[in-house]
Amino acid sequence: MHALATEFASNPTLTRQWLTQVDFGWGPQRILDTSKGIWNPQTYAATLTIVSDPNSEYDDGDHGDSLYRYSYERRPAGQDPQGGSNIKLREAMRLELPIVMLRKVADGRFVPIMPVFVVKEEPEHRRFLLAIDESLRFLPDPAHLTKDQRRYAERVVRQRMHQPEFRARVLTAYEARCAVCVLKKVPLLDAAHITSDSTDDGLPVVTNGLALCKIHHAAYDENILGISPDYVVHINEDVLAEVDGPMLKYGLQQMDRRDLWVPSRGTEKPDRDRLAARFDAFMDAG
Ligand SMILES: [Zn+2]
Repeated sequence: MHALATEFASNPTLTRQWLTQVDFGWGPQRILDTSKGIWNPQTYAATLTIVSDPNSEYDDGDHGDSLYRYSYERRPAGQDPQGGSNIKLREAMRLELPIVMLRKVADGRFVPIMPVFVVKEEPEHRRFLLAIDESLRFLPDPAHLTKDQRRYAERVVRQRMHQPEFRARVLTAYEARCAVCVLKKVPLLDAAHITSDSTDDGLPVVTNGLALCKIHHAAYDENILGISPDYVVHINEDVLAEVDGPMLKYGLQQMDRRDLWVPSRGTEKPDRDRLAARFDAFMDAG
């Protein structure tokens, strides 16, 4: 898991190509399944990784806010539906071993969610239930959560799964560059929301996102930096008048009136209506 975390820290996503030949120090090893989704290395007692595709035909998804449904691997007619690759996933549950869930965010691109635990099997529905965070293993029956437990679970799921996926999609669309200064340094990049995710309208979609470096993200949130709907960067007038060191001069003042770096695909460009609403707030603050 350390190798995955290290790779993911410096890249917007893990690619299929990388996942088929991870070097753990003893030669390249495949760590994802190419066809089915459950990867059980021969020498391992239990499953190592599972692929979860939000757009797949399998009925995978959130379950009662705290757990995640993961369908059995489908077996050929006449064979035990609980058999095949499902056996080692059951072993991961029995042995309480952590596994890695690879969430597909685009063709051949994945976000690792780890550690994930298999906590329950529902043979009647031909599926397992997964806890996508250690703390969620210990919640009681997901069908009977209290209001506080549900709120807690929602927050954890957002942090552990939805936010990393949003960041991966936005950074991929922006080719891992800051939209303001084009810095290409993944560990220093965030996916900023244009319409805040604390509002109902603040959806985690690429058109409501901007890839921004840490400093420009903070400057955007503080209305030191604004972005007009015609994709131009603006710096607060008071800040333009200040005199200070190189970060102020090169990092902020020289960004004024620069064209925003936006994705080439029309469907991924930032939403102009959202930018306009946010730009009004910047103008009011200035
Ligand atoms: Zn930047």
